[in-house]
Amino acid sequence: MSAKIRLYVEHPLGQGQSVPLTRDQAHYLFGVMRLSVGGQVALFNGQDGEWLTEVTEAGKRGGVLTCLEQTKPLQLPPDLWFLFAPIKKARTDFIVEKAAEMGVAQIMPVQTEFTNSERIRQDRLQAHAVEAAEQCGGTFVPGVATLQRLDRVFDSWPEDRQLMFCDEAEVGSALRLAANEKGQPWAILIGPEGGFSDRERARLSALPFAHVVSLGPRILRADTAAVAALTMWQQALGDWS
Ligand code: SAH
Repeated sequence: MSAKIRLYVEHPLGQGQSVPLTRDQAHYLFGVMRLSVGGQVALFNGQDGEWLTEVTEAGKRGGVLTCLEQTKPLQLPPDLWFLFAPIKKARTDFIVEKAAEMGVAQIMPVQTEFTNSERIRQDRLQAHAVEAAEQCGGTFVPGVATLQRLDRVFDSWPEDRQLMFCDEAEVGSALRLAANEKGQPWAILIGPEGGFSDRERARLSALPFAHVVSLGPRILRADTAAVAALTMWQQALGDWS
């Protein structure tokens, strides 16, 4: 049994559990999607897998769904952080959406020397990650952190976390991603449209946990580089194989 509508909720899910709806959710389900009592909705909360639920109360400003049965267990992504420098709004949205779809544990916007935008709307980006999971049948939603300075991120970096540093200066060198064991904590770093500064490149390359990686013989736009890097990492070290 499966329901067509999937929604993310911030509420525990479990056998017989009732889930109160927010005003927006009630408006969406009953106003937009025209559901009524007895209608079915799939819910997930990032922790308890996916549950088939039934509308047990429907109102203009609220309502209640009741859990019937678990339809999917929680599927956690690999322990992968995705660090990227925000670019133009639509392309930043795209990067967050793709990272959430392709399977990362945490999305971390970073401010590099050549990053143009000094601010991001963390709540909007988080909503994009939720939407991506809603649409793709995901049961987990990666958190989107607030914007942090790249140098600060590396001041407090967990020693055991490897870093796939995608450096445009390596364009054309052989693709290599040290084939160490799967299941290790990793991170991917993608720079902004302006690329990395020489100072950043020097510091990043010297980090003991950094693996400098080329994404082929062409310079890619940051949004393309994000998808390419995620594909490469997932295939080599993630849960695709
Ligand atoms: N303006 C820069 C390019 C930046 S591309 C220049 O002309 O040199 C944006 C980001 O995508 C880069 O910082 C890097 O992280 C990634 N990227 C793009 N193409 C790449 C390649 N061939 N190899 C490795 N990283 C690449």
